[in-house]
Order: sequence, then structure tokens, then C-alpha cells
Amino acid sequence: RFISFEGIDGAGKSTHIQAAADWFRARGADVQLSREPGGTPLAETLRDIVLREPMGPLTELLLMFAGRRDHVETVIRPALAAGKTLLCDRFTDASFAYQGGGRGLPLSVLDPLADWVQEGTEPELTLWFDLPASQAAARRASAREADRIEQQDLDFFERVRAGYAARAAQAPGRIVRIDARGTVEQVGAAVLAVLAARYPA
Ligand code: C5P
Repeated sequence: RFISFEGIDGAGKSTHIQAAADWFRARGADVQLSREPGGTPLAETLRDIVLREPMGPLTELLLMFAGRRDHVETVIRPALAAGKTLLCDRFTDASFAYQGGGRGLPLSVLDPLADWVQEGTEPELTLWFDLPASQAAARRASAREADRIEQQDLDFFERVRAGYAARAAQAPGRIVRIDARGTVEQVGAAVLAVLAARYPA
């Protein structure tokens, strides 16, 4: 199975993906973790470029989808074919949120690219960690150094958040909103509740 973890920077998805991996492993699943941007040697190289070099929105989008295609072909599909539980820190929804909502690229560009690149490979469940941009920024301030995109202002991240909300409204069965405003323990409990409901023993 294929499950993605989404949200604006500082929402806590990277913490909770580890807890989810432990939860699945305890149930005997063969878990594989991956991430985007990145997840393959080529896509990690593209990630470094995207996070460092100044570029326009469409260039950013195309590099994200180039990396994603490599990731889908060489990592995600083989893992799913091998029966693994693939947990991915970000996937296509992030492009709709960041390059769509944040950068303003239209669905007329995003939709066909997503179709081409994914060719039917889609998460069966997406956990969207949602919290206000101001709270996420406060969490980020105490963490690692900001990359090019994390240096955007609060308005940008509120647009990204709205992009996720729009995606979630279109895919209510797949995208589950997790209220990420609470403590790590509270949010973690919400995550495990969703997983337990979806994947009963
Ligand atoms: O989630 P992670 O911190 O690894 O993402 C790296 C950076 O790329 C973050 O600043 C994130 O906001 C940005 N990003 C983006 N567009 C995407 C995915 C991630 O701008 N589609």
C-alpha cells in the first residue's frame, strides 16, 4: 500500500511518518519510507537544485515532476509490486499546494502533468497535517536552517495551506485532515486513530 504525508513546512509530518512506520511494522508490514522532493539519486539531485537555485514557478514545477517520475518508476512502483507498505513524505498533492496554491500555477497545467507522471500510481491514503501558517513558522524557527522555499512569507504558506484544503475537498475519501495544532502526543494519537480505523487488525 501507498500512503503519503502532507502539510506545510513545520506541520510535523516528518515526525509522525516515523510513528506510522513503527505502527505498521508492529503489525508485520514490510515498510519502506521515502520522500519528495527526492527519493532517488536523480530526484535528490533535482531537490538540491530546486531548494538552492532561484527559478520561475513553471521551472520549479517541471523539476518537481521530473523527480517524481523517476521516483514513481524506480522506487514507488517496484515497492508496491513487492507488496511493501510505502510511506512517502510528500507526493503530488504538494505540487498542487506549493506550485499551484503557493506559486499560482493553474490546474490546466498541473492536472495533465500529474496524469502523465503518475499514470495511475496514487496514494490510497493521504494524511494532511493542517495548521495555521503562523504556528508552523514558529515551529520551524526552532528547527533547522530554512531552504529557499521556507524563506517565503506567511501569505505564501497560507496559500499553500488553501491549496491543500482545495485538494482535500476534491478527494475526501483519500485525503484525511489531521488537526496538527496540538502537541506531538495529541497529533500522534490522531494519526494512529486514523490508521486503526482504516487498517483494522
Ligand atoms: O518536506 P521537505 O522539507 O523535505 O521539503 C523541502 C522543501 O521543498 C520545503 O521547503 C517545501 O516547502 C518545498 N516543497 C515545494 N514544493 C513541493 C514540495 C516541497 O516547494 N512540491
